[in-house]
Amino acid sequence: CAVVGIFNHVEASKLAYFSLHSLQHRGQEAAGISSGDGERLHTIKDRGLVTQVFDEQKLATLKGHMAIGHTRYSTAGDDSILDAQPVHANYDLGQISIVHNGNLTNAQEVRNKLIKEGAIFQSSMDTENLIHLIARSNQGKLKDRIIDAVKQIEGAFSLVFLSRSKMFAVRDRFGFRPLALGRIGEGYVVASETCAFDLIGATYIRDVEPGEMLIFEKGKAPQSLKIFDAMPKHCIFEYVYFARPDSEVFGKNVYQKRKNMGVQLAKEQPIEADMVVPVPDGGVPAAIGYSQESGIPYEMGIMRNHYIGRTFIEPTQEMRDLKVKMKLSPIRELIEGKRLIVIDDSIVRGTTSRRIVRMLKEAGAAEVHMRISSPPTTDPCFYGVDTPNKEKLIAANMSIDEICHYIEADSLAFLSTEALMRSVRAEGSEYCTACFTGEYIV
Ligand code: 5GP
Ligand code: SF4
Repeated sequence: CAVVGIFNHVEASKLAYFSLHSLQHRGQEAAGISSGDGERLHTIKDRGLVTQVFDEQKLATLKGHMAIGHTRYSTAGDDSILDAQPVHANYDLGQISIVHNGNLTNAQEVRNKLIKEGAIFQSSMDTENLIHLIARSNQGKLKDRIIDAVKQIEGAFSLVFLSRSKMFAVRDRFGFRPLALGRIGEGYVVASETCAFDLIGATYIRDVEPGEMLIFEKGKAPQSLKIFDAMPKHCIFEYVYFARPDSEVFGKNVYQKRKNMGVQLAKEQPIEADMVVPVPDGGVPAAIGYSQESGIPYEMGIMRNHYIGRTFIEPTQEMRDLKVKMKLSPIRELIEGKRLIVIDDSIVRGTTSRRIVRMLKEAGAAEVHMRISSPPTTDPCFYGVDTPNKEKLIAANMSIDEICHYIEADSLAFLSTEALMRSVRAEGSEYCTACFTGEYIV
């Protein structure tokens, strides 16, 4: 998912809209914005892409100098409109609205406890727990109620809250999911990725720190509170696949990291071939790195159709196969008779690689060597990325040789975990690698 918050700007909801547009890659299932005009909060949310959910007229009703927004990728909960965010509610202190990126690992326990105490839930989202925890807290001030609430939840959360007059941003102690702070005019912006800042003309200040709460209040500089001891475990998959290459994530540029992975992959897994071909778009930076390191020419041997969108397609297995065919097609003249090194960022179910190898062979490729710029995905993510459960993860159930046979490639190799760490390591920072190593943090 993506979150954004705009504070103290006359066009707050418009800036939230444009920010969400640049963060669309983080979730395509639903989108929503809440704005605050100092009196009350206004919320619009629905299933679909940002451009499908909002138009000029709708945005005009989202009045006020502050706004928060969300694009949804279902990790917790299901696909219904009730599971779109922001989660907006009335309670004894007035109105509140919340957006959340991440996944709470103790959500079911907390929910069961709340239900026993009489709470009624409208959605299946773990985020709804927070509303109840805040409403039931004994603390007088909203700030203290939020602290009280987030101390009862565990797992991954980059959160933005809107009240009648204030905005709050909170990040879990591990900093699994990104959250950056920027400045725009006299106001402030927080967003999952800095590509949102570039679009709306905001300047990046720093990240919201793991374990930090920022309080935005009119006429004051943002107030920072340490509410958890920081233990950084940033999601390495943001660099592998999730984030946009032009973003700074965890303070570093994503494109550079991804390209490094390709360089490392060329060092670890060289093979003789005629050209390096990326699986667009995810494999592009790593393929450039691989090509530069190996000296083998880079060619765009596969074209991507960018106009697929979500259309009518439900994410079932059969439909996934069709979707790959609709999305990617080979340039026959280029690859005919050639030995190809094909670079992708990850193999999850194996569906994409299998289709691509077959497609390239049908188009006349002499050899297809798959090189993956991350280690085998062996374990599901519980911190906010929608990896399927272990039964569906091909690398959890097959050896690399077996996967190679399954996808019908001439050879297959992955980046090692050590080389992945070398590609991304910034001094002193620590990463979560659980989906590649099974070493879970919480
Ligand atoms: P597979 O077909 O093996 O299940 O998925 C691998 C392909 O999906 C790769 O091309 C990769 O870029 C992309 N991919 C990797 N992780 C994710 C994810 O979390 N969500 C989506 N939608 N695609 C992913
Ligand atoms: Fe990221 Fe993987 Fe850790 Fe999930 S398990 S937070 S995807 S590194």
